[in-house]
Amino acid sequence: MGVRRLGRPVIGRVGGGSDRASGGPVGQGSGGSDSSVLAPTDLRVGILGGTFDPVHYGHLVIAEQVREALSLDRVVFVPAAVPPHRIGLTITPVEHRVAMVELAVAGNPSFAVSRIELERDGPSYTVDTLAILVGEAARQGVARDLFFILSTEALAALPSWHDPDRILSLCRLAVVPRPGTPLPDRRRLETEFGDRAGRVVEVETVPLAHSASAVRARAAAGHSIRYLVPPAVEAYICDHRLYRSDKSSEDCPK
Ligand code: ATP
Repeated sequence: MGVRRLGRPVIGRVGGGSDRASGGPVGQGSGGSDSSVLAPTDLRVGILGGTFDPVHYGHLVIAEQVREALSLDRVVFVPAAVPPHRIGLTITPVEHRVAMVELAVAGNPSFAVSRIELERDGPSYTVDTLAILVGEAARQGVARDLFFILSTEALAALPSWHDPDRILSLCRLAVVPRPGTPLPDRRRLETEFGDRAGRVVEVETVPLAHSASAVRARAAAGHSIRYLVPPAVEAYICDHRLYRSDKSSEDCPK
């Protein structure tokens, strides 16, 4: 695993040790505002946004390996309440999706879950979330480095996101490989992001081909999702009959 910059030099530092001195986040996963998720000692923070319908091992592996590669103090999972690119499509109610992420990250003291995108109406634009997090750091009086974690697939779609230029002004991007989508070359990044291309950092993680859509499809067909999602998430999906057309079925696939 390693870290490679794409494009021009990254502004600020990459690498370096964890600065966490003491104390963890208050109320991790407790559902409070975002100030309850990040402690003032969390100076290098990864943000993993997603629909998480459901969370799977692909998400957990990139969060863990980016945390290690960039010496992050915390990785915050931010489930989208209203994913802008899925408006009009059927998605699982956000409370279920948040509950599954909370189960998935339980036991990893470096991970937290934020409900920040449940606290506002309308599409859950990443730029708005990042602006709130930057404002919060200013209120806490800390110089916090934010890294938004996303895959090569998501990076390819970034120009279609709401205000990508401002996203890159608020944070750096930690880009991880996703099977099937190659890394963009430097020239393309500079064409798309200009001077901010240097804020895109490639992090080599072990590629996993897991996808939420594959998990949903398997669950809908009554097939096993064991080893694709953590056991607690598998049990939650079974208990709540998520993704199943036959809600009356008593048994979950073995
Ligand atoms: P779906 O299959 O429904 O599109 P998904 O598996 O891509 O869902 P999301 O919650 O949309 O899950 O993903 C959140 C972020 O995690 C995105 O940046 C996505 O590209 C990335 N991601 C998801 N799965 C993987 C994976 N297996 N490897 C690398 N990145 C991943």
